[in-house]
Amino acid sequence: MIIPVRCFSCGAVIAHKWEEFNELTSAGVEMGEALDKIGLKRYCCRRMYVGHIDLIYETAPFSTAIQ
Ligand SMILES: [Zn+2]
Repeated sequence: MIIPVRCFSCGAVIAHKWEEFNELTSAGVEMGEALDKIGLKRYCCRRMYVGHIDLIYETAPFSTAIQ
C-alpha cells in the first residue's frame, strides 16, 4: 500500500524519507547505499523500505473514497 509512517518494531518515523529513497533508487543508486544516504541505520527500519511494494495506485480504483 503506502509506506507506513513509523517503523513497526522501533517506532521511528520513516515515511518522510520515502520520496528521497525512490528518487535515489530510480537514479540507479543501489538500495543499500540509498538507505545509508537517507539515514536509515537500524535494520528494522531498513526492512520496512526493502520489503515495501507500493500498491496504492493499483488498489485505489477499488476504494469507496474515490467514487
Ligand atoms: Zn525501526
